[in-house]
Amino acid sequence: MSLFHNLLIKFMPLVPKPIVKFVSKRYVAGATLASAIETVKVLNSEGTVATLDVLGESSIRREECEAAVNEYLQVLDSIAEHRLDCNISLKPTQLGLLLDEELCYLNIRQIVVRAAKYNNFVRIDMEDAQTTSATIKLFLRLHKEFSNVGLVIQACLRRSLDDINVLAEAGANLRLCKGIYNETRALAFKDPAIVNYNFSLLIKKMLQAKCYIGIATHDEKIVWAGLKYINQFNVEKSQYEFQMLLGVEEELRKILLAGGHKVRVYVPFGIKWYAYSMRRLKENPKIAVYIIKAFFRIK
Ligand SMILES: Cc1cc2nc3c(=O)[nH]c(=O)nc-3n(C[C@H](O)[C@H](O)[C@H](O)COP(=O)(O)OP(=O)(O)OC[C@H]3O[C@@H](n4cnc5c(N)ncnc54)[C@H](O)[C@@H]3O)c2cc1C
Repeated sequence: MSLFHNLLIKFMPLVPKPIVKFVSKRYVAGATLASAIETVKVLNSEGTVATLDVLGESSIRREECEAAVNEYLQVLDSIAEHRLDCNISLKPTQLGLLLDEELCYLNIRQIVVRAAKYNNFVRIDMEDAQTTSATIKLFLRLHKEFSNVGLVIQACLRRSLDDINVLAEAGANLRLCKGIYNETRALAFKDPAIVNYNFSLLIKKMLQAKCYIGIATHDEKIVWAGLKYINQFNVEKSQYEFQMLLGVEEELRKILLAGGHKVRVYVPFGIKWYAYSMRRLKENPKIAVYIIKAFFRIK
C-alpha cells in the first residue's frame, strides 16, 4: 500500500460525518427503506432494474441477525407492494455466518422462502476470503431446494476457476465481480491485468455452461469481454445482465441500456451507511480515491 493510501486511511476518520454523508449520498440510497424504494422507482423509470442491499455485516449477536432478517422481509414486502423490478442482495456475515453457520443458513432460508412467495430472487454477496468456502456450501444447500437464489464469485481469487467449475455443474446463477476485499497474494491475483484475464475466463466458462450471469463491473474492458462472448456464443438476452453500483459509471450504464442489454443497479441503504463507508475505505483505499474524485468532480 502506498504512503498516499496510508495517509488517506489515517485521516479519513477525521473527515466530518456530514461531509462523508454528502459524498456517500451518491452511492447510498439513504438511511430508510422509504428512501431506497424512491431510488429504485427512479431507476426502474429509467429502464434499469435494481437489487436492494440493507447495509450491515459481521453481526456479533443473534439479535442483530434477527433484526436483519426482519428488515429483509420488509424489503421484499415493500418491493412487491410497489411492484418494483428489484431483487435483494445480502451478506452472510450480517445474517450470522461468523456466529453459527446453521443459524445463518436458517436465516437466509427464511428470506429465500419469502422471496419465492413473491417470485423474487435473493443474491448472496461474497465477502472476504475467510468466508468463501462456508458461503459456497451455504449457497449449494439452498440451491438444492430453491431456484430463486444466486451467488457471487470474485475474479481476483485464485480458487474461483475451480469454484466456477463446481457451480456451473450445479447450474448456479452467478454474479461475477473483481472482488473488493484486500486479500493476500497467496489467495488473490495482485496484477489487475491478470484479474481481468481471469474475469473474462470466468464469463466464458459460465456462458459456455449456459448458466445465468450478472457481469458486475464498471471496467469497460470487462464489459467489452462480456459483449464479445455474448456475441460469439449467441447468448439469449434472458441469460445475462450487467450490474453496476449506484452512482458509479452512469454513462456506461446508459450505453449498455441503449444497446438493449439488461442493467441492474446495486442500491445499498440503511442506518449503517457511515460504518459501511468507513470500513470500505479501510479495506480498499481505491474507494477513497473514487470518493475524493467524486467530491472534487475530477475525471
Ligand atoms: C453490482 C455489484 C455488486 C458487487 N458485489 C460484490 C460482492 O458481492 N463482493 C465483492 O467482493 N465485491 C463486489 N462488488 C465490487 C467489485 O468486486 C469491485 O470491487 C468493484 O466493482 C470495482 O471493480 P470494477 O470491475 O468496477 O473495476 P475497477 O477497475 O475497480 O473500476 C473501473 C472504474 O469504475 C469506477 N469505479 C469502480 N468502483 C467504483 C466506486 N465504488 N466508486 C466510484 N467509482 C468506481 C472507477 O472509475 C474505475 O476506474 C460488486 C460490484 C458491483 C458493480
